[in-house]
Amino acid sequence: KAGAAIAACAALQGTAAAQAPAKLKLRVLETTDLHVNIVPYDYFRDGPDDTVGLAKTASLIKAAQGDVKNSLLFDNGDFLQGSSLGDYIAYKKGLKAGETHPMIAAMNALPYLCGTLGNHEFNYGLEFLDHGLAKAEFPMVCANVERVGGGPLVDAWRLFEQSFEDEAGNRHVLQIGVIGFVPPQIMQWDKGNLDGKIVATDIVDAAEKHMPDLIDAQPDLVIALCHSGITGGARRGQDENAALHLSKVEGIDVILTGHQHLVFPGGKSFDGIDGVDNVKGSLNGKPACQPGFWGSHLGIVALELEKSGERWKIADFKVEAKPIYERTPDRKIVPKAAAEPAVLAAVKVDHEATLTYMREPVGSTAAPINSYF
Ligand code: MN
Ligand code: MG
Repeated sequence: KAGAAIAACAALQGTAAAQAPAKLKLRVLETTDLHVNIVPYDYFRDGPDDTVGLAKTASLIKAAQGDVKNSLLFDNGDFLQGSSLGDYIAYKKGLKAGETHPMIAAMNALPYLCGTLGNHEFNYGLEFLDHGLAKAEFPMVCANVERVGGGPLVDAWRLFEQSFEDEAGNRHVLQIGVIGFVPPQIMQWDKGNLDGKIVATDIVDAAEKHMPDLIDAQPDLVIALCHSGITGGARRGQDENAALHLSKVEGIDVILTGHQHLVFPGGKSFDGIDGVDNVKGSLNGKPACQPGFWGSHLGIVALELEKSGERWKIADFKVEAKPIYERTPDRKIVPKAAAEPAVLAAVKVDHEATLTYMREPVGSTAAPINSYF
């Protein structure tokens, strides 16, 4: 108590040498649009593929966590559909209550703090999704989907109490708010699965509806898991790619984007859009990222937080989409990440069953068939 009194006194006198603001480095890590790509394998070509797979991204995650004191890992949606392994589960093996989907098993092998739903989570109906999510060891948030008749499908947002170590070695407890969004087009794309069961609303409208409650909960930092991409121009309402508009909503500090399967910062299609800094990685000045698809990149939003008074603010940031491979000018693939054994082990049985499933002959033809494509 005596120490606190002396410090307060020094601050009042304006000689606050010992009162330099606390500085804290936090890495926000993002995967997006994994689409059941876990093993670095091309099931159609029936051979290894160094350009895909969460097992590879996981080693970048491990490295990114290893050289900083504080990090948080998020997934940005489109995880349950999109590969032969996903098809094998959905169409051949099935997913009963109590069973663990291999994508969820792989994600559980990493310390995800939270995820959000992508449009493809709805492709196999709500029961399949419920069975999938039931085994996830981390929560999901989505603010713009509600059940018909009321109630959320998953929580609109969550607050996570996290203890971080600052640059001076002192610990601080921060409240991290996380809110999620999905393209409202799911109501057309999966009409058969969703009509009469859920309603999806405009992303920015949903943010404006829910953010006041999240702000009331006094978060130190708010991260939007936006399964939606970045396009310029005016808001039209029900925008599929609404991340740039979302960045104007008060209280949101960091925007993780996805859905377009593009890379931000740096992707050519993001050049010259008003409000988008394609070098620094920001939307209307707020840090933002989009790490490709199928595990091709890890999104790294490196934040420098500074405490002024009772409030933490982002003093500086650096954004990078780090690739698991590079392509040489003559189109050769150079791997930049090894596969994590723990992630491979989590899906070994289902991966091997998928190989058997994919190798089954589906019929035979007496007439020759060829394809130039
Ligand atoms: Mn996707
Ligand atoms: Mg999508």
